[in-house]
Amino acid sequence: VAAVKDEPGVVVARTAMFTCSDATQQEIINDIQEQKLDGIVVASCSPKLHTFTFRDMSKRAGLNPYEYSQVNIREQCSWTHTDDKVGATEKAARLVRAGIARTRLTQPLEPIVVETIPKVVVVGGGVAGMRAALGLAEIGLAVFLVEREADLGGWVAGFAEMYPHGKDGRALATRLEERIRRHPGITVFTEAEVVGKSGSFGNYEVSIRVGQGRPETAGPDDTASQTAGPDTTAPETTGPETITVEAGSIVVATGFDSYEPELGEFGYGLDGVLTLPEFKRHVEAGEGPLSYNGKPVRTIVYIYCVGSRQPEGNEYCSRYCCTAAIHSSLQVAAKTASSGAAAGAAAPRISQYHLYRDVRSYGKYELLYNESREKGDLYLRFPDDEPPVVAEASVGGRVATDSGGQGHRLTVTTRDLLTGGAELVIPADLVVLVTGMVPRGNDELVRALKLPVGNDGFFNEIHPKLRPVETVVDGVLICGACQSPKNSAEAVASGLAAVTQSASILKRGYAELDPLIAVVDPNACEWCGLCLEACPYDAPRRVEEGGKEVAFIDRAACKGCGGCVPVCPKDAIDLLGYTDAQIRAMIDGLLQELTPCQT
Ligand code: SF4
Ligand code: SF4
Repeated sequence: VAAVKDEPGVVVARTAMFTCSDATQQEIINDIQEQKLDGIVVASCSPKLHTFTFRDMSKRAGLNPYEYSQVNIREQCSWTHTDDKVGATEKAARLVRAGIARTRLTQPLEPIVVETIPKVVVVGGGVAGMRAALGLAEIGLAVFLVEREADLGGWVAGFAEMYPHGKDGRALATRLEERIRRHPGITVFTEAEVVGKSGSFGNYEVSIRVGQGRPETAGPDDTASQTAGPDTTAPETTGPETITVEAGSIVVATGFDSYEPELGEFGYGLDGVLTLPEFKRHVEAGEGPLSYNGKPVRTIVYIYCVGSRQPEGNEYCSRYCCTAAIHSSLQVAAKTASSGAAAGAAAPRISQYHLYRDVRSYGKYELLYNESREKGDLYLRFPDDEPPVVAEASVGGRVATDSGGQGHRLTVTTRDLLTGGAELVIPADLVVLVTGMVPRGNDELVRALKLPVGNDGFFNEIHPKLRPVETVVDGVLICGACQSPKNSAEAVASGLAAVTQSASILKRGYAELDPLIAVVDPNACEWCGLCLEACPYDAPRRVEEGGKEVAFIDRAACKGCGGCVPVCPKDAIDLLGYTDAQIRAMIDGLLQELTPCQT
């Protein structure tokens, strides 16, 4: 405050402990109104977090929201320079001065209003995509559901009993598909992929490459479950295999792939070593007590975190796989018990060992973990840097046997931290590699929709808590496990969040866009096309004006990224909110009053 309170134009300068709190916002509103301020600077955290908070606050105070500037003195200053408090404080003062300099030159701006088309393309026909498609159709929006495979349903359609609700995955997927097929507001494309997008937010044209043939038309009207009237006009055909549809927004729900271990990784490739999805299918396919290759299974070893939390490769936790493995072990125990009861005999004994780094059965899934322990499963914690080793039991001419003299295919050698690091050799009939989720290969879709991809390969939302299904591409939403590992319940919940977000844009018929966009001075421009080449959103267009060709920026397509400004040889482009004059003033603000050692 001391460093900036006397800057030209500064009327009030204050500190606050929690600037975004309601009480502090009210104090700022009072200052704006009492002092008749025509600009404010908030110096706190990242604009990613609170731009909209303080824009709304400005509106409530009667100040144009684009006359507010956010200065990030947390992520880009105090958190970055914890080792140099004096230097960080000086940097903070300079950043705030730059913010003040920018704000002095701001002009009031109005949002750009665009009409929106009440149609949505949903990409991905798994459980999240299907639920999103139904939700959108049920509020009266026309939906084009695009699925790469021949059938809808995704992973869930391949599961039997699922946790925590105990419902049958196949039945669940079938019911959803039946509702989708009956709904007149939904057009389904299978064996189809989105290959292009043009237009701008609210008015996209989406190109869909169809494989085997034409879109599958919706079924008879099911009036009990629908609202009337979405426009399902047949899509225009632009080529033998490419369909173009109009859409106001696009919901991406392309799901995940299961981690595929390398041959030899934890014994993968040996007879009896299965990934978790392979094991689930095996358990669900058979009747009676569990067997493998015709032999009864007496001992199963689960190895956790395969393909997740790796020092190299996938560093993230897949979240769902601990609980999925525990759930499978309970299914095995239940099958074993019921087969004994059916035979009128004591259930055969089955031993299940869970070798883990951490068990992350969060929330009420902890109950499954407790149940499995109560049923006799053993949990052994191995060191991060010394994972279990899987080998064929007969290696070295010896066949592993358990205490009952039973022979086994495999052995698993591990160290158990809970018993002081004791080495254990466990004879096993089956070894289950508890594999995590990995991002799908979606290169063409990423290119077509300009989807933001994170370091982990999953699609990136704007903010995991505040804007969890929005991407930086306006009107393109993400949900389900394409965004990060999720179980089916979480995937459905995020699918419904995408429905709400789409509806809030499309049901009122228009959307408001940020006016912080590029503008071209037609007097200075002499069309050369360099701005169009530089623009990732194809926003500049060639137009005739005043008897010459000049560039014109499509206001709805421009994202205000500024990429075109420095390439213009005629200096004809300015970015509203970040004009050349503002940028120069900010640089001056950063540089003023340098200490001798900095100069
Ligand atoms: Fe394109 Fe960015 Fe320039 Fe807008 S500011 S026209 S999005 S390059
Ligand atoms: Fe005009 Fe500059 Fe774009 Fe060239 S780069 S077309 S001169 S605005």
